[in-house]
Amino acid sequence: MPMDYDALFQSQLDDLKREGNYRIFAEMGRRCGAFPKADNYHEGETREVTVWCSNDYLGMGQHPNVVEAMAETVRECGTGAGGTRNISGTAHHHLVLERELADLHGKEAALMFTSGYVSNWAALSTLGSRLPNAVILSDALNHASMIEGIRHSRADKVIWTHNDPEDLNRKLAAIGPDRPKIVAFESVYSMDGDIAPIAEILDVAEAHGAMTYIDEVHAVGMYGPRGGGVAEELGLMDRIDLIEGTLGKAYGVMGGYITGSTALCDFIRSFASGFIFTTALPPAVAAAATASIRHLKGSQIERARQKRQVAKLRAELDRVGIPHLDNPSHIIPVMIKDPVKCREISDILMDRYGIYVQPINYPTVPKGTERLRITPGPLHSDADIAHLVRALSELWSHCALSRAVA
Ligand SMILES: *Cc1c(COP(=O)(O)O)cnc(C)c1O
Repeated sequence: MPMDYDALFQSQLDDLKREGNYRIFAEMGRRCGAFPKADNYHEGETREVTVWCSNDYLGMGQHPNVVEAMAETVRECGTGAGGTRNISGTAHHHLVLERELADLHGKEAALMFTSGYVSNWAALSTLGSRLPNAVILSDALNHASMIEGIRHSRADKVIWTHNDPEDLNRKLAAIGPDRPKIVAFESVYSMDGDIAPIAEILDVAEAHGAMTYIDEVHAVGMYGPRGGGVAEELGLMDRIDLIEGTLGKAYGVMGGYITGSTALCDFIRSFASGFIFTTALPPAVAAAATASIRHLKGSQIERARQKRQVAKLRAELDRVGIPHLDNPSHIIPVMIKDPVKCREISDILMDRYGIYVQPINYPTVPKGTERLRITPGPLHSDADIAHLVRALSELWSHCALSRAVA
């Protein structure tokens, strides 16, 4: 009797569809120089839309310095790295990037990975499995890449209440003083846009002799005078043992990294399977990332203009009573709290208004907290903002959604 594997797959897909959690990808064509305008491929045609949900927060993916660095390096070095870092794949451009990253965070060393996901997964799984008898203390809302890394390490894991240093303190106090302890958390949480009380968390971790691990993926390039993240803005980088980031969001390219002491980076380099056994990123990608980091170390224009547009959109939403989560970051979550409605509103925005905001549903966020996650950038015009707010306001009336009371 043959098994019908496709039927097994299909029944779980049908469950997702019934719940409204089935993911439909928008097929997009980004146009260099036109961002945040892009083409949406739809029923055999393309239509121009404005992207409001990109993690290319500052539009660096089309910055002339970055584009030129990538194109020039492809012409110079060709396309691929040609191997793992160990076997013929380490390019001069990789080492230049790693020096740039170490400098960005004021650390001795840095190590790049093929993505931010891989950097978290590889670093945490290696720390947790190689440090004898280690315990990893993980914020309850940590990203999937950290959770998977911790799980893979098989180290003891303790989850502490989100952004709650007192709970962390209690949980650290319950662990024997001789065990290695790693406190893992993020700075900007990407779905609610809230920011961790980093100084308080460091106070607690230091009091218990714990190592600290921060994911600054949604903050690098964007916060701090040189784009070093929230820890740079607050002058806390030197108190954090490991700072992790991505090159794929505000830097507009691809790749992930860790920075820390020479010994720490050498340890991960030497033992992390997810670093060792995979082809290195193309030299051109490293060169483009270096150009992006260098630009954002010196230029305040993109960050300043983004902050202005974020504040402007928030004020406009408040004016018409569209409820959004209040937070200190650049992420504006507009809460819909229903997966089907969230998808419907997103579809109407695209079809009727040429506005692309992907619905965010379970399991990215808890059920009942479905939302539109809006990320204004320096390249959104005031007219773009006005159009978005008008569209949302019409939809709010049309779908009889409740307004915030001013
Ligand atoms: C996106 C994300 C990552 C993964 O980074 P990639 O470079 O996209 O793989 C890691 N942590 C957080 C918090 C993220 O949102």
